[in-house]
Amino acid sequence: DQAQRLSKVLAAAGVASRRSSEELIFEGKVTVNGSVCNTPQTRVDPGRDAIYVNGNRLPKKLAPKVYIALNKPKGYICSLGKKESKSVMCLLDDYFQSWDKRNPGLPKPRLFTVGRLDVATTGLIIVTNDGDFAQQIAHPSSNLSKEYIATINGVVSKRHLFAISEGTVIEGVHCTPDSVELLPQQSDAPRPRLRIVVHEGRNHEVRELVKNAGLEIHSLKRVRIGGFRLPSDLG
Ligand code: URA
Repeated sequence: DQAQRLSKVLAAAGVASRRSSEELIFEGKVTVNGSVCNTPQTRVDPGRDAIYVNGNRLPKKLAPKVYIALNKPKGYICSLGKKESKSVMCLLDDYFQSWDKRNPGLPKPRLFTVGRLDVATTGLIIVTNDGDFAQQIAHPSSNLSKEYIATINGVVSKRHLFAISEGTVIEGVHCTPDSVELLPQQSDAPRPRLRIVVHEGRNHEVRELVKNAGLEIHSLKRVRIGGFRLPSDLG
């Protein structure tokens, strides 16, 4: 039996949030097999029942859950809607163009990023259509650690490392990193590199930590979110 609560089916189909889907149902905007249905608890199966929202038929099949680990280049933003910069979603144009070939008959997923990286930051970002999963990853209570490699202009001293480890105040909250470490110098990359692990995920947290210690960031890359690590050859 594939039947589920009507409000859940609408939310899963990307019509609206669970809450707003309930409102649509209460407002009489949803019909099931030809009759208005006012009860969000009604059990329906989109494959068997004809469900219409505002006169539009809900697809018989739901978009599958999709999880993409993306290596964000510099110059792309993670939020939708801003026109000045390119969104990371542009990077998935080919993925969407070939969707129907790879997934005949299945609707395209509505993807969003889990959290954000600054426009100048590169590295790992997770893209999904699974709201529950995104919540688990992004919610502060999950306490997931995130690992960054910060490349620095100038010379890094013990005093700088200590200052970073002491933390800084961001949006009124004192944030300290879980760890900060100077990486061994690479012969082909003369700038010093710091491995910084944080778990708060405040706006510009890593940049603020480094700046507050009196250092200048040359570039910043996220290499790990919880147990997901960017393959080391990407970079
Ligand atoms: N911290 C930053 O400063 N920038 C990012 O993009 C992510 C974490």
